[in-house]
Amino acid sequence: MKDISCKLLVIGAGPGGYVCAIRAGQLGIDTVIVEAGKPGGTCLNVGCIPSKALIHAAEEYDRIVHLANGRNSLGIRTTKPELDLSQTIVWKDGIVGRLNSGVSGLLKKAKVKIVQGRARFRDGKTVEVETETGRQIIHAENVVIATGSAPVELPNLPFGGFVISSTEALALTSVPERLVVVGGGYIGLELGTAFAKMGAKVSVVEAQTRILPQYDAELTRPVAKRLQALGIEVMTGAKAKGLAKAGGTLLIEAEDGSEKSLAADKILVTVGRKPVTQGCGLDELVLDMDGPFIRIDERCRTSMRGIYAIGDVTGEPMLAHRAMAQGEMVAEIVAGHKRAWDKRGIPAICFTDPEIVTVGLSPEDARRTDVDVKIGQFPYSANGRAMTKMGEDGFVRVVARADNHLVLGIQAVGQGVSELAAAFGLALEMGTRLEDIAGTIHAHPTQGEAFQEAALKALGQELHI
Ligand code: FAD
Ligand code: NAD
Repeated sequence: MKDISCKLLVIGAGPGGYVCAIRAGQLGIDTVIVEAGKPGGTCLNVGCIPSKALIHAAEEYDRIVHLANGRNSLGIRTTKPELDLSQTIVWKDGIVGRLNSGVSGLLKKAKVKIVQGRARFRDGKTVEVETETGRQIIHAENVVIATGSAPVELPNLPFGGFVISSTEALALTSVPERLVVVGGGYIGLELGTAFAKMGAKVSVVEAQTRILPQYDAELTRPVAKRLQALGIEVMTGAKAKGLAKAGGTLLIEAEDGSEKSLAADKILVTVGRKPVTQGCGLDELVLDMDGPFIRIDERCRTSMRGIYAIGDVTGEPMLAHRAMAQGEMVAEIVAGHKRAWDKRGIPAICFTDPEIVTVGLSPEDARRTDVDVKIGQFPYSANGRAMTKMGEDGFVRVVARADNHLVLGIQAVGQGVSELAAAFGLALEMGTRLEDIAGTIHAHPTQGEAFQEAALKALGQELHI
């Protein structure tokens, strides 16, 4: 097979890699992308998209179950629905398939050459790929490592059989009767909630003293309340010890040190993700590492000239939109543009029920910066639109400097607040002050009005509370 030479080689076609390649192609850079699996990476195939599809189906089903459950205040009468999860999975796979083709089409449109197979470094400028038709050697002036991440396996609870990762959970064709989720973080709670809504008896085992420990307790309280209402058993301060000999049972060490057992048809282990740095010949290079991740600077440059790294392989936050933003930036740097990572914040959303959105500093983070802060919080119980959607649990909170009112962070928890992430992100990125948000006409009746009211509250000028 004839060797390929290019200016830019991207390894991995997840959100980081494919965005980098598309932008590079648009800029006229001769670009090759290598992908071992399907275009779109974790996010599109076994992450963001399929999980949100399943969450949506579960929400729809749960809503009708709720309406069918006796008399409801909306006055809607219906009969109990049925869920055919295998059909739901066909629908979800259809969306994934359409997006796979979409990514391939966008790469081709940008004149990016796609090589299918696993890439392995020979040296910093040469990569070999085992393709279906033989070994392909690629020489590149610049290489971007965008190999992503994979689920962390617990040594005492290896994946296999009824111990599953998010990947298998997103492909189940029947709802397990009893699902034990180990890890009450993003994936555990998003998927645990979805399966509970689909009828599983769900238990969550979380090692820390509370669920979603990366968020402040005030933000996670409405989520904990809803988990309880859905009948999900949450065990905090508890660790999974392993399987009982008899099988079908997870042994855990509870907060008080006692041993408990939980019967399970499936055990979903979601205790974090690890960077994919094995099996691609990284040991042939001398890259500085940052713990298990590849160390990068503000231009996503690694310690080797001409080698960049982006996305999950470079560490937290492991979010698709961070990977995409890094990919876009690196393409422009390779094209000779002057770019550096100067983002003010990376929004994060947890698609639980209710949803959580954060961007920038939490009140606690802000107080640690030694500046005086002003905080405005507006509850959804005082927002008309939230009432009409029966989503009164939650709030929007704005954190700003006390001296000049510069907004430092915005958080919200509530039904459907994920769509406010765009407004929050824009406000932070544009260097907004409280007066800018307070002085912007927010359409009525919307949940977004709570954002304006939170800013007004921080200024001591609240109108609706
Ligand atoms: P990845 O998407 O992991 O892509 C890496 C690609 O590289 C893969 O396709 C892999 O096959 C390929 N590859 C690896 N090694 C090689 C090699 N040697 N040769 C060739 N190809 C290789 N993030 C969000 O922002 N929002 C969400 O709602 C969200 N939900 C999630 C839900 C779940 C269940 C999971 C698991 C993750 C979720 N994430 C979410 C995280 C998100 O998926 C990742 O942050 C994102 O996919 C990272 O993109 P990436 O390009 O760095 O890597
Ligand atoms: P996570 O870090 O969000 O949560 C892991 C949880 O497992 C933590 O709360 C941790 O305390 C707990 N844990 C660790 N070891 C344990 C043990 N032995 N027993 C019990 N609990 C234990 O990780 P995740 O949920 O696996 O998700 C991985 C990453 O994927 C996230 O960090 C996030 O970046 C990304 N993701 C994002 C979204 C989103 O943006 N909506 C959704 C899913 C995943």
